[in-house]
Amino acid sequence: MADIAPAGLRYPWPTPPAHGTEAIEVAPGVLWLRMPLPMKLDHVNIYAFDEGDHWTIIDTGFASKKSKALWTEMIAGPLGGKPVRRVVVTHHHPDHIGLAGWFQSEHGAELVTTRTAWLTARMLTLDEQDVAPAETLNFYRRSGMDPAMLDKRSTDRPFNFADIVAPLPLGFTRIQQGDTITIGGRVWDVHMGNGHAPEHATFWSCDDNLVIAGDQILSSISPNVGVYPTEPMADPIGEWLEACERLAPLARQDHLVLGGHKLPFTGLPKRMEQLIDNHHGALKRLAAYISEPKSASECFSPLFKRAIGEAEYGLALVEAVAHLSHLYQMGLATRDLRATDGAWVYQAKG
Ligand SMILES: [Zn+2]
Repeated sequence: MADIAPAGLRYPWPTPPAHGTEAIEVAPGVLWLRMPLPMKLDHVNIYAFDEGDHWTIIDTGFASKKSKALWTEMIAGPLGGKPVRRVVVTHHHPDHIGLAGWFQSEHGAELVTTRTAWLTARMLTLDEQDVAPAETLNFYRRSGMDPAMLDKRSTDRPFNFADIVAPLPLGFTRIQQGDTITIGGRVWDVHMGNGHAPEHATFWSCDDNLVIAGDQILSSISPNVGVYPTEPMADPIGEWLEACERLAPLARQDHLVLGGHKLPFTGLPKRMEQLIDNHHGALKRLAAYISEPKSASECFSPLFKRAIGEAEYGLALVEAVAHLSHLYQMGLATRDLRATDGAWVYQAKG
């Protein structure tokens, strides 16, 4: 399906590389590759930077037999047989950090990422669960999850990081806000995003027009911003808006943005505006919608303006909780436990 650029954006390469077998050179010594994901969002972008006798790669894809085989093919083919010696991971999500540990243990690569990304990914890979813990089920109940789905989730094996993220050995190199790092012959300023994932690294080239954005800045989809049982009172919408407003002044019209999904694009100043406006718009529609008390699961229509299927239900729910909780924590809504189902219901203050 063709990916239509939002107004003001341009896609220099409208056709992406084939999953795992092709690479497109998007700048001198910079290759764009893709790894498949078994989800609705069916790919993650990888960028490989030529370091002379080896490569630095940005993000990795899930840990699976299939992606390992594709990587082996990729290294022998488009990467010209040169080894991957450094893996830079933008944030802790499995599609980005999935094979970082494998590159460390099997390829002798160095892992560079943020402390929060590393700690979170390592904690979650070690925290393997056969059944969903009570806190998780309670979190779903409080979100108003559909009873049949809640029932299913109370007996099914839950989503486990360990299933799709390779074990992370000890030892990583930390990057933090304000650092500079050299990748592929360019010096980059490191700026931290937030909201989609805590302490999410983005990289802004000082030597040309490249920006490595991970999932903090995407072209045609709005990055998922959700609340999870780990931190039920987190305010990722507040953190997202703060990060976008802080990053927006760095954006230049000529920037070529290399994001974690979808197509590389130019038109970043416009996109930063859209990303911020999208959430302000959603919050406004939501506040109007909860003139009567509503649970998170009852708020999909004002937020997403389309039907939510089972495959997207989980992500939609955590995103709805995030928006409602933001209104609540900003003092713009009240929240009460509904006796009938134990869900938090939120109501806009009059
Ligand atoms: Zn992500």
